[in-house]
Amino acid sequence: MKISDRTSSERNAVGVTIEEAPATLADAEKWRARVDERKGAVALVSGGLDSATVLALARSTGTDCHALTVDYGQRHRIEIEAARRVAVQLGAASHRVVTVDLRVFGGSALTDEIAVPNPENADTIGRTIPATYVPARNTIFLSLALAWAEVLEITDIYIGATARDFSGYPDCRPEFLRAFEHLANLATRAGTEKRRQFQVHAPLLNWTKDKIIRRGVELGVNFGITHSCYDPSSEGLACGLCDSCIIRRRGFEAAGVDDPTKYAESE
Ligand SMILES: [Zn+2]
Repeated sequence: MKISDRTSSERNAVGVTIEEAPATLADAEKWRARVDERKGAVALVSGGLDSATVLALARSTGTDCHALTVDYGQRHRIEIEAARRVAVQLGAASHRVVTVDLRVFGGSALTDEIAVPNPENADTIGRTIPATYVPARNTIFLSLALAWAEVLEITDIYIGATARDFSGYPDCRPEFLRAFEHLANLATRAGTEKRRQFQVHAPLLNWTKDKIIRRGVELGVNFGITHSCYDPSSEGLACGLCDSCIIRRRGFEAAGVDDPTKYAESE
């Protein structure tokens, strides 16, 4: 089933909270009122554009956000520093970097000596699962976020998964997020003894990249400190050629927002 075939209420009816975040700052009041009773949230922050916007959205509800970054041995180490800057800029209550070295397994262009693909035609992005897919990455990330949330005695987990303008990753689909939320409530002491209900929030799930950028700008995200490129230069400049760069650049163009990304190749 295509995501666009399902209504918001249908998605919510099966359990996972895939929220349509408010479209404007004025609309945010209703959302804020609904989440006020929560003590806080854990937000996965990668250093990229999407997770920065998710952190800003979560912060805009007035909740304390604990930012979690996973250092999984990604080739683009600059991501971790970008995540630190994003957590500070957006006022995270705390920030943890957990190291889980997925280079032990490899199997991805991001963790192994496999070339990062440069799509010849940007229209082919998303048609197949690319070499930049990291085996079970979001399952691992969400498991770590769940563990921390349980310790913090909070139940809300935010992730910047997007199923539009994405690169075809299976663990960015609503079916996966819904299943993980079900697992979270079975797998934890908090979910069983205390009968707390964990919720996985993926507010960007159906958003296009340009919508994410426009909303991020409204919320004061400094995209100049984020990093998206899969294959940056040794100085940390974006390649401008990988899937992630192409999607990001198109997003800024479509949003009518100046792209603050520093590219290695001038055009
Ligand atoms: Zn790139």
